[in-house]
Amino acid sequence: MKRHELPGPRKQVLYDFLACAIVILFHFTNYVVYTEYDRIYPDILVVAGGLCAVAAGLTALLRIPSAVFRAAVFSVLITVVLGDALFEFGTKDDISLRLIALSGVLVLALAVMFFLREHANLVLIGGFLAMFVATVGIGLLAARKDGPDLASGSAATADLPVVVHIVLDEHIGLSGLSSATPGGAATSAISRRFYTDAGFRVFAGAYSRFFRTEASLAGALNFDGSAQATRFLTRKHYGFSLNENAYLKAYADKGYRIRVYQSDYFDLCKSHGIAFAGCASYRPDYLSRTAIDGLPGPERARLLFGMYYSSIAVIKIAKLAGKQLDRWAKNQGVSLPSPGLWHGRVGPLAVVPTFNNLIRDVSRAAGGTVFFAHLLMPHYPYVYNSACAVRSPISAWRLRFDGNLENSPESRRRSYAQYIEQVRCVEKRLTVLFAALKKADTYDRATIVLHGDHGARIGLTDPASATVSSLTPADYTDAFSTLFAVKAPDITPGVDPRMLPLTSLVPYALDRDEDLLRAAGDPTVYIVDGNGNASPHALPAFPSLPKQLN
Ligand SMILES: [Zn+2]
Repeated sequence: MKRHELPGPRKQVLYDFLACAIVILFHFTNYVVYTEYDRIYPDILVVAGGLCAVAAGLTALLRIPSAVFRAAVFSVLITVVLGDALFEFGTKDDISLRLIALSGVLVLALAVMFFLREHANLVLIGGFLAMFVATVGIGLLAARKDGPDLASGSAATADLPVVVHIVLDEHIGLSGLSSATPGGAATSAISRRFYTDAGFRVFAGAYSRFFRTEASLAGALNFDGSAQATRFLTRKHYGFSLNENAYLKAYADKGYRIRVYQSDYFDLCKSHGIAFAGCASYRPDYLSRTAIDGLPGPERARLLFGMYYSSIAVIKIAKLAGKQLDRWAKNQGVSLPSPGLWHGRVGPLAVVPTFNNLIRDVSRAAGGTVFFAHLLMPHYPYVYNSACAVRSPISAWRLRFDGNLENSPESRRRSYAQYIEQVRCVEKRLTVLFAALKKADTYDRATIVLHGDHGARIGLTDPASATVSSLTPADYTDAFSTLFAVKAPDITPGVDPRMLPLTSLVPYALDRDEDLLRAAGDPTVYIVDGNGNASPHALPAFPSLPKQLN
């Protein structure tokens, strides 16, 4: 090859920079399109500017005169970008298959980049520019969806009342709140007033059978209090789908139209024998622009950058590997420092558009429709204060555990303080929903069911087969106490202090058969071991509510 065919050194620097920048910006644009940001906001440009600085850093690295090093820099970049497609293979926690696939891509990319030598930059510019243009084009062309048409219910079902059923993920019960933390009793009293004033009967001692969402809901929605509730579930690539749903099937058999609003982690729309009239899914990592409007610009850019790099498969794999390393080190009695990466969660922010759509649809509905929603709120991270303003800075958002996946009494207290504020925000949102029903003149006849799927899960120790001997009653309360409130014309508002499982309360909400509650038996929960086998454990009594609350 003759030397003069190559661009001059200055041009080579420019091409290197363009190659790195286009590969990185192509990947970032893909993410922005995925999040459905619908305009170019300054925060996108700020993050894009930061990524151009990364490209400049890589360009400086490429000045090192080594063909192998040059090929390695480009190959790592390509592997990081293409790794996202590979992450779709394998199951949630299995990283070995993905590591093999990633290594394969890296070796292949190394071979190609080494072969291309000085021409690698131009080939990358051409290839990724084409993909970049295609991504932007698809993003611009993607049509916006309108709300469903809800006015046309059949004449036979129009007389049926509206049913609104919302699972508020991770919402602890009144008894759990009453002693969970300093201030818990006052919080419990506010929640009690909120629900009873709105006409609800609140079951203060409601509890879930399982610690995990999918098992708890699979049992509750199939009225199955046994350890085998997971048999209603099928594992999918991300999360689970529910095969049977006795609760919604009963409504469908009565002639109700069923509309579901769900997270894509737990798919309710695959259940046998139900013709769903609507099924809207949201992603738990969905960064809704409307939800973060209230944040200061730099915090929005920080959040966008955090969510972006958390979405990169290589980072996810590194986190999973780090978790396994941490577990291993802990068994050796060593505590590793936390790398301080962004957790990649936005909690109830992801729910905002779905909740707004639910309110819109409910306010349009006549009779004969069940609106069933599974909303990740007040689920961690605790992003809202009690006025429903997004907490700033975003680094102040707490999780249900500390960085090292555990709680100390102090971290538990601090997480609960934020959690309680988020509970207040949930009640504010519910007030808007109730107002929509009242405005549509459907509130008084409506059946409304609101409940959690497990506790706040801000315990010192999570229930697991390895920890069961050291669990305290407070750990059980943190894990299993859950909200249950139901309103219907034939239900007297008030507080029922009995300890009752969701597996009895959900069918009770359907038929109002008091015998179901009397037959609930001794409080029992299931703790699952590493092989998925569930063993029964007696649930210690929750703290009783303060006297004046009964
Ligand atoms: Zn849950």
